[in-house]
Amino acid sequence: MFWDREIEALPRPELEALQLARLLRTVRRVGEHVPFYQTRFREMGLDPASVRTLADVRRLPFTTNADLRASYPDGLVVKGPEQVVRLHTSSGTTGKPKALFFSRKDVDEAAELIARCLVMAGASQHDVLQNMMTYGLFTGALVMHYGAEKVGMLVIPAGPGNSERQLMLMQDFGSTVIHTTPSYALYFADFLERKGIDPRKDLRLRTGLIGSEPYTEETRQKIEDALGITVFNSYGLSEMNGPGVAFECSERNGMHIWEDDYLVEVIDPETGEPLPDGETGEMVLTSLSREAMPILRYRTRDITSIHREPCACGRTHARIERITGRSDDMLIIRGANVYPQQVERVLMRFPEVGRNYLIRLEGLDEMIVQVELSGATFDGQLEHLVRLQEQIVEKLRAEIMVRPKIELVAPGSLPVSEGKAKRVVDNRKL
Ligand code: ADP
Ligand code: ZN
Repeated sequence: MFWDREIEALPRPELEALQLARLLRTVRRVGEHVPFYQTRFREMGLDPASVRTLADVRRLPFTTNADLRASYPDGLVVKGPEQVVRLHTSSGTTGKPKALFFSRKDVDEAAELIARCLVMAGASQHDVLQNMMTYGLFTGALVMHYGAEKVGMLVIPAGPGNSERQLMLMQDFGSTVIHTTPSYALYFADFLERKGIDPRKDLRLRTGLIGSEPYTEETRQKIEDALGITVFNSYGLSEMNGPGVAFECSERNGMHIWEDDYLVEVIDPETGEPLPDGETGEMVLTSLSREAMPILRYRTRDITSIHREPCACGRTHARIERITGRSDDMLIIRGANVYPQQVERVLMRFPEVGRNYLIRLEGLDEMIVQVELSGATFDGQLEHLVRLQEQIVEKLRAEIMVRPKIELVAPGSLPVSEGKAKRVVDNRKL
């Protein structure tokens, strides 16, 4: 099923022609109306009129997280006739947030992309969406909300947390689709287990739109098994309108990235040089149709690769691989490069492991991984736990080249945040 077959299955030559027309318009507009880019172009000696092909995108300047912060509150907004109608900020963990502005057309286009994603995941106006993301300045909940209304779904703006109330809403209104983070999905699954609720029998849930933080295929499996749903990976970032940037189709072989609105590149994060399709690096996105606040070559820091082979679903838009983390997530532990996702992948393969974990770095480079057990394992025999602990240490050492200390803890005992999960606590005194 398609929301807008014409654009979703647009033959690639036409898609690329559309991208080019929109890229040229974007470059011209920022060159005329955004002092930040005017200065950049001048510094680089770049004449916007000399940009003529899609490959010329490589001649444009990057925009970084630091640029967005430095231009706070509104330094990147087009000083043009379009009315700005909405403000969002990015969750930003430290310092000032990043402010993102939307025109009416931007708000509508963001909803349009969500509608494509929802229909791609098999949802229709007969579905009830329980939106468990944080409402407010964060794009996650509101952008999804408007897109789902466009499809005609009944939307329950539940917000995050308060599992008792989530359950009540699900039971009373027959929610069929949930939108949440992987960490909350797992936490909620635990909560249902403790309440003795069998989601397959007692609830009508069918589909999970799960994203906003990285997770592994193993975690997807755990969520699907525990909640009896099909999980679709959902990717977005506030800088590019929030959710709806890339999303899985029924093939679930990567996330289609909506190329009529985003020009995608993958670069070597060290050198900034573009990498060929299929190679893994940092994703860089240029918005092609944003009116209020176009952004050129945004360095997402998200690690992935691009695939442009045709997809069996019939959509022509490229696919990006599951995001394996952010380039700035990388930890250096005793000289080894370690990504939290590598740890997650190993842990979630153990059936005895429950649904949450925390990496703690202490003292002089000591790595401790706290691992929640499943209920049955926690109540099991001590020798079994000792053996399990040794197995986890060995598997982790083989994956990350560091020998961590493992602490097995009770189900539900590690902290859960309402927004994005905090997987690493770094208390090192180095
Ligand atoms: P912040 O940068 O403050 O976290 P956002 O809320 O806009 O702001 O988060 C966007 C980021 O969240 C992305 O750049 C990416 O790192 C992460 N993210 C979002 N969806 C996914 C997903 N499906 N898989 C992996 N990471 C994701
Ligand atoms: Zn597809």
